[in-house]
Amino acid sequence: MNKNYTSTRNNSVSISAKEAIKKGFADDKGLFVYPNLGNDQLDLKTILTLDYQSIAKTVLAKLLPDFSQSEINESVDHAYSSTFDSTKITPVVDVDNFHVLELFHGPTSAFKDVGLQLLPQLMKHVLTDNSKVMILTATSGDTGKAALEGFKDLENMGIIVFYPDGGVSKIQKLQMVTTGGHNTRVAAIKGNFDDAQTNVKLIFNDNTLKGQLGSAVSLSSANSINIGRLIPQVVYYFDSYKQLVQNGTVKAGDPVNFTVPTGNFGDVLAGYYAKLLGLPVKKFVVACNENNVLANFFENGVYDRNRPFFQTVAPSMDIQISSNFERLLYYKSGEDSAYVKQLMDDLETTGKYQVSKEVLDAIQADFYCGYSTDQEIEAAIKSVYEKTGYLMDPHTAAGYKVMRDYQKLDDTPMILLSTASPYKFVKAVAAAVLPEEADSDDVLQTMKDLTTKTKAPIPENLQKVWELPVKHESIIQKSEMENYVKEQVEAVFYDKDQSSSN
Ligand SMILES: *Cc1c(COP(=O)(O)O)cnc(C)c1O
Repeated sequence: MNKNYTSTRNNSVSISAKEAIKKGFADDKGLFVYPNLGNDQLDLKTILTLDYQSIAKTVLAKLLPDFSQSEINESVDHAYSSTFDSTKITPVVDVDNFHVLELFHGPTSAFKDVGLQLLPQLMKHVLTDNSKVMILTATSGDTGKAALEGFKDLENMGIIVFYPDGGVSKIQKLQMVTTGGHNTRVAAIKGNFDDAQTNVKLIFNDNTLKGQLGSAVSLSSANSINIGRLIPQVVYYFDSYKQLVQNGTVKAGDPVNFTVPTGNFGDVLAGYYAKLLGLPVKKFVVACNENNVLANFFENGVYDRNRPFFQTVAPSMDIQISSNFERLLYYKSGEDSAYVKQLMDDLETTGKYQVSKEVLDAIQADFYCGYSTDQEIEAAIKSVYEKTGYLMDPHTAAGYKVMRDYQKLDDTPMILLSTASPYKFVKAVAAAVLPEEADSDDVLQTMKDLTTKTKAPIPENLQKVWELPVKHESIIQKSEMENYVKEQVEAVFYDKDQSSSN
């Protein structure tokens, strides 16, 4: 088996996993992918006997072959030893006739913790000699805090998070601005998320700035296009299947289905990787919210982002270009990188592309896609809570609605991925189960009343955050972002030990 990664847009590229993690994405703007992923599967019988950390070590050894086993072991042990509030890391909870895979037991109560606890640990083994990396992230909420926690206080690494001033929820902002660590920086931007994102991309492509930062410092991203963040997510698909085998719900080898609330398509793509590696999955049910570009694509094979953008109650899914979908197109076109490049060029110039009937059929064989409106999300939170006592966050609830649509066609055992604690999206959850407080600005009080009413526990980090001192108060103009990066690279890497290398 080829041990190198290639680019979705040019299969003459050949690059080690370590280099792929350091670079993030390819020079041709394609994403790094492993050719022939399904040729060398994992042994399911063995996996079913392992704990979460050991499954992680097995999966990573397969997909990151240039890391030594001791580098992998050390990274996994760091990432998942004491940072999650469940010993199972991602526990499966039985609800009614489906099973919820809770991905929100990490340090920031976001599913992004699963990838962002491990990526920085892998990055340690990628940085050689005295090279340094500054992570730049524009966030609309959950990624920022999860990335800050993952990179906090790691040597030769720093992280700068930009968020839109007034554009994230109260608790998400609190989580970010109270982050400690000598190498963390957070700045609010006078503008919206797209402004922040666009400027971060400009900074990444600014060669003058790169020259000024010197050869020892590179800039990188913690976005889900990085394989170091994507591959850790393959693990919980195997682990949740193991949990269902262990509690007798399915027999080893029997198929299951997964429903995944989707934004950038990273989470569900990791599930498809697990299937290619031998996990018996019949169907992946992909759930969108009202930003339903993907759901429309599944009807006719046309991906068209020329449409209005909606701000919904499930903001982490408010996305019009699902970046990781490009990787699925690569595999489903028979690893035809010229074809993928053509589609992506079409997307860039016209905002849309159309795939062939064969490619669409191949995608539909493994995936089903639907969407949920805000009203349906609220109704789902309410009805599941009233029927079973289980409290879902709005993203999980979007998944629930689409899952129920699909279950009319197929009664294979179903695992619904839950991507956030309900306490991170208090307003929407209160609207469903505590309507008298839906308009309250006292978020902490609403959280307390929600836990009293529903008995769903508030994660410790979301309770404590209210008492922590605010450490990051910068509010800057979009035009100041580049300068801010320069100053903070200097401060994080060179102020501390007074050494100045350029
Ligand atoms: C990021 C996120 C998603 C979307 O995941 P993708 O990997 O981008 O598809 C869904 N729900 C929540 C709560 C998230 O934070």
